[in-house]
Amino acid sequence: MPFTVAVRTERLRVTLNGVVQGVGFRPTVYRLATRLRLGGWVRNTSAGLEIEVEGASDLIQEFVTELRAERPRAAAVGVEEMVRVAPSGASSFEILPSDDSQEKTGAKSAAVLPDLATCEECLAEIFDPANRRYLYPFTNCTLCGPRYSILIGIPYDRPNTTMRNFELCRSCRREYESHGDRRFHAQPNACAECGPRLRVVPETKEDPFAHVARALAEGKIVAVKGIGGFHLMLDARDSVAVRRLRERKHRDYKPFAMMMPSIEYVRRHCDLNAAEEELLLSRASPIVLLRPSSDNDFAPEVAQSSSCFGIMLPSSPLQHLLMREYPFPVVATSGNLSGEPIAIHNEEALARLSGIADLFLMHDRPIERPCDDSVVHVLPSRQGNRSQMLRRARGYAPLPLSVTDELRPVLAVGGHLKNTVAIAIGRQVFLSQHIGDLDSLETRDAFQSVIDDLCRLYRFEPEAIVCDLHPDYASTIWAQRRAGQLGIPLVQVQHHHAHLAACAGENRVSGDYLGVAWDGSGLGEDGTIWGGEFFHVHLSGFDRIAHLRPFSLPGGEAAMRDCSRPAASLLWEIYGTGHAQFSEENGAGSLALLESGVNSPQSSSVGRLFDAVAYLSGAAEENLFEGQAAMCLEGAMGRMRTDASYEIKHTDGVGDWSSLVEELLADKRRGMELALISAKFHNALANWIVAVARESGHRKVVMSGGVFQNAYLTSRTSLLLEASGFEVFTHHLVPANDGGLALGQAVLGSRILEGVASCV
Ligand SMILES: [Zn+2]
Ligand SMILES: [Zn+2]
Ligand SMILES: [Zn+2]
Repeated sequence: MPFTVAVRTERLRVTLNGVVQGVGFRPTVYRLATRLRLGGWVRNTSAGLEIEVEGASDLIQEFVTELRAERPRAAAVGVEEMVRVAPSGASSFEILPSDDSQEKTGAKSAAVLPDLATCEECLAEIFDPANRRYLYPFTNCTLCGPRYSILIGIPYDRPNTTMRNFELCRSCRREYESHGDRRFHAQPNACAECGPRLRVVPETKEDPFAHVARALAEGKIVAVKGIGGFHLMLDARDSVAVRRLRERKHRDYKPFAMMMPSIEYVRRHCDLNAAEEELLLSRASPIVLLRPSSDNDFAPEVAQSSSCFGIMLPSSPLQHLLMREYPFPVVATSGNLSGEPIAIHNEEALARLSGIADLFLMHDRPIERPCDDSVVHVLPSRQGNRSQMLRRARGYAPLPLSVTDELRPVLAVGGHLKNTVAIAIGRQVFLSQHIGDLDSLETRDAFQSVIDDLCRLYRFEPEAIVCDLHPDYASTIWAQRRAGQLGIPLVQVQHHHAHLAACAGENRVSGDYLGVAWDGSGLGEDGTIWGGEFFHVHLSGFDRIAHLRPFSLPGGEAAMRDCSRPAASLLWEIYGTGHAQFSEENGAGSLALLESGVNSPQSSSVGRLFDAVAYLSGAAEENLFEGQAAMCLEGAMGRMRTDASYEIKHTDGVGDWSSLVEELLADKRRGMELALISAKFHNALANWIVAVARESGHRKVVMSGGVFQNAYLTSRTSLLLEASGFEVFTHHLVPANDGGLALGQAVLGSRILEGVASCV
């Protein structure tokens, strides 16, 4: 008798969230399901991706295994859930339209992909005369192209992007609709026939790229529309042009980033290690800080105060085409006036940048939201070279950061400088792109629109708003007003506590730890300005166990810019008014303030100690932008490596800098070279951290705050601590500066809210 085994039919529902939209996930699922002859469907939802497959149980099992193995390269699955559901008799598989019906009331948590640099395949097409996209500057596919900058709403579908007004031509539509095509549902898919077009202002009959190249060669400044906003470009070898840009942009000193034509070019002109090369070539395509080699040909005016240059490679077809036409380094700085947000709209750029740019290269694909270039550097560590984010924007935002705690839905508004904001949904924190310093009206408008945008995109309603303790931060003032309007709690978090929570959050540190929070300034719980703090951090809060010996900042705000002021303060503390050293080294203005105590707040800031030492050693005199003097002092070290060190005397939880200052002045009198003085200062700080860590009884050390953007200090301290058996955590994914604060605020705000909730 023939014997047949009854094949059991099953239906499985799989839901995925994380980075699952806009990466070619649906066609992958489709190909797999049809290969296995399964029925069912796949669709995007507001939370991610949903799949139902139906068929023989062994094939379903195979589907699950294969799906895990064949995930698209750019995908990152956060949570995966599977449930069995009743079979419906389906035998064919289809891709359904996106479902936006569910979760109408809840927050959307589908991860939106950042903008991705042009892939190899698309690049090959652009430079292939036989290809229909030959020289087309808006070529993209499911693996590359704009995402976040063109997104109007979630889910990520063409009608929800700024490509919605471009009707696909027949060829593009065929690609867009073919499951096997690498442009299947590539939302910004386009070609010369149907897609966005270039425009040069003032108009020209010449080829746009040839025209712009000629302008660059003539020393002109060109505004070029990029992915997340306009760049101002000019030949980086041309001193006169760079000086002209500085004058027109009102930017006296801050280094400009450069775009280089190719990785080969970067290799020739900069010192480059494998990790740096990988970053430059990555899909995120950030600006990477590099040291130029001795035979570089950049104008010195590009980065006067720094030994490092910010370098990026072209990341859009438009930039690739421009760099092919003009294969030289160009300055590529944000298209804005100093202190204002980057321009994104054509008319806005023509109006705002007309006093700066001689020429405009733009196009008619709208940018939905500004996204500056990200900035990253690579630090040596015991685990090899690791990258550290200095500015998180294009290529990274708005990828969520996963934290260990389940968070309450809070909105965190960050600090005042280098502002970013964040919203917490479940175990994910969606940190905004870099917004900027909230000093100008324009940046405060941008701050408001980023918050509105995040809340709208993710349909997010905060249960509370979290801000800094500082009452004068524009973000704090906004948060107080908004929380009042919404009738929800306002949670204020101490600045350095938030810094540490951000670093612990991104590193998923659990339990107690020693927190080292060093930065320029943040309001302390005692009303003074902190910035050289050691905290014992625990779940319910922190204890300040050590700090830098405080000193006055004569003139308050003015002491942040003028480094002679903190320098005068240190000398006054050590020698009093009568010491000869005092009058030699600085003006009398500070002295009067110090003696009267008027407008001279106390501060334990390591950032200000850097300024004072930069001044006393002759490395720098002022901060025309935040951190400038510290950057000069670090840069002055050059390639000097030594274990020689000054000493910070640590007694009763206070680190005293007085002998450090005295020795430094003696070294200077002896004519010691600045590189060695700088190294001895940096080493003294690293040694102090190790001494406090030993005394603290902790094994885990978390280091955060703007001072830890200093590559030498961060690496040296980490290496010394690890050699002594400590587990060290530093920033990699979010900036150590105030750009990371919102992440820490979200974590702490949620925790404080939980505490409040449990008390009720
Ligand atoms: Zn591509
Ligand atoms: Zn087309
Ligand atoms: Zn800070």
